[in-house]
Amino acid sequence: YTGKSLSSKLSEEIKKLKVKDFKAIPAVVSDKSSVYDVIVALFVQDVGTIYIVSEGGILEGVVSRKDLLKIALGQVDIHKIPITVVMTRMPNIISTTPEESLLAAAQKLINHEIDSLPVVRPVTVEGRERLEVIGRVTKTTITKAFVELGADKLIQRGERP
Ligand code: ADP
Repeated sequence: YTGKSLSSKLSEEIKKLKVKDFKAIPAVVSDKSSVYDVIVALFVQDVGTIYIVSEGGILEGVVSRKDLLKIALGQVDIHKIPITVVMTRMPNIISTTPEESLLAAAQKLINHEIDSLPVVRPVTVEGRERLEVIGRVTKTTITKAFVELGADKLIQRGERP
C-alpha cells in the first residue's frame, strides 16, 4: 500500500456499505396482538425483537425479549394484555433507511444500546407522515457484513477464509 494507510482504505470500504444491501426481512406483528401472541411470534419467527405494525405495515412500536420477560414475570394474564401497552412506541423508535450507510446504522445500535433497527420508508397515510417497515438491521446483520468484508480481503490476496 502506498499513499493511503491500510486503515483509511478499510474505512473507505466500510463507509461504502449501504443498509439496503444487507437488511434482513423484518419480523412484524399486528398492533391488535396480545402479549401472548407476540411471545409466540418471537419463537416462531426466531428473532429477539419484533416490530408492531398497523394496517399497511405502518410502524407503531418495537418489543424486545426483555420487554416481554418483564411483563410475563408480573401477576398478569398475558392473553388479555394488548401489546400496545408494553411496546416502545413511535416517535421514540430509532430507525434507519435503505440509503443510510451500514456504519451509521451500526453506530445507532451502539449509541442507543439496542439490538435492532427497523428499516423504514416515509409514506403518507390519510394526510399524515408515517413510516412503513421494509426491513431490519440487527447486530447479526453487522456481524455478517464484517465477515463478508474479511472474507473478501482474504480472497483478494489469493487466500481462502
Ligand atoms: P433487550 O431488551 O432484549 O436487551 P434491546 O436492547 O434491543 O433488547 O432493547 C432494549 C429496550 O429498547 C427495550 O425496551 C426495547 O423496547 C427498546 N428498543 C429496542 N429497539 C429499539 C429501537 N430501534 N428504537 C427504540 N427503542 C428500541
